[in-house]
Amino acid sequence: MHIVVCMKQVPDSGQIRVHPVTNTIMRQGVPTIINPYDLFALEQALQLRDKLGGTITMLTMGPQMAEDSLRKAMAFGADRAVLLTDRFFAGSDTLATSFALATAIRKVGDTWGKPDIVFTGKQTIDGDTAQVGPGIAKRLDLHQLTYVAKIAEIDLAGRSITVERRAEGGVQVLRTQLPCLITMLEGTNSIRRGSMADTLRAARAEVVKWSAADAGIEDLTKCGLRGSPTVVKRVFAPTAREEKAHLIDTTGLGTDQIAQALMTEVLTRVPAIEGDLQRAAASY
Ligand SMILES: Cc1cc2nc3c(=O)[nH]c(=O)nc-3n(C[C@H](O)[C@H](O)[C@H](O)COP(=O)(O)OP(=O)(O)OC[C@H]3O[C@@H](n4cnc5c(N)ncnc54)[C@H](O)[C@@H]3O)c2cc1C
Repeated sequence: MHIVVCMKQVPDSGQIRVHPVTNTIMRQGVPTIINPYDLFALEQALQLRDKLGGTITMLTMGPQMAEDSLRKAMAFGADRAVLLTDRFFAGSDTLATSFALATAIRKVGDTWGKPDIVFTGKQTIDGDTAQVGPGIAKRLDLHQLTYVAKIAEIDLAGRSITVERRAEGGVQVLRTQLPCLITMLEGTNSIRRGSMADTLRAARAEVVKWSAADAGIEDLTKCGLRGSPTVVKRVFAPTAREEKAHLIDTTGLGTDQIAQALMTEVLTRVPAIEGDLQRAAASY
């Protein structure tokens, strides 16, 4: 079995700062971490490998410094790591990111065997769009299972997989064919501690580095800013609201009294709506 896990290196959320002039996230000198959602995808992949054998390939598109995060992932137990890094990828939106990653996954397949499963996290903590996983699945014509909470059954010989997917109002049980792409939900497992052996192996291991050309990307107009219809115009921290929440003590009050207390509160804060409410009440 061959599993590919897409993992993004992100700025440590507690340290995110916005550049006052360019309005983009300042990455220089900001500590980076593995995107937390991707750790659940990695742990799920490790559990499958423990059960069914095979290998795990980590894949990151990012700057040279993303090598650190890939080494950490190998210290958790991943078998190999590929860093897709090239200045042509700068400013990529999700369309350009999924293009570059999908092309690289094809090359991973040609090099180490076609993947049976491609895992991504549900989303990242910086872009936060949850679009890259489905974008990769579409480009590679893979069945996609998003918001997966649990892998219930996997039949490698019969080429099928059954998962539990968290959806509004409950859990869906879905079955599809392999190969597939899975976006893993957060909180679905706990990432293991890497073994000493894996930590030493990761420290010595080579992180494979691919440029756009190495990954077989010919059409550079689909990469980076040129390949990105979405341009992040401004990133800003919303201004904190002055107004504080006000708790209404409803102890011992009946429903009508609670409704009355709420109405009084609303009308005190926004007297202007009294007229609208009266008109609305009159039309009943
Ligand atoms: C504040 C902010 C807002 C943004 N808003 C948008 C927007 O609205 N539209 C848009 O198109 N772009 C947007 N971007 C750019 C977007 O972040 C990048 O395109 C990014 O590379 C991928 O999108 P994402 O972070 O939302 O990933 P998601 O789609 O949230 O990521 C899902 C999963 O895909 C995998 N993945 C994502 N990126 C990589 C990577 N580089 N390497 C390996 N695996 C990866 C991971 O497994 C991850 O868990 C924004 C960026 C920032 C910082």
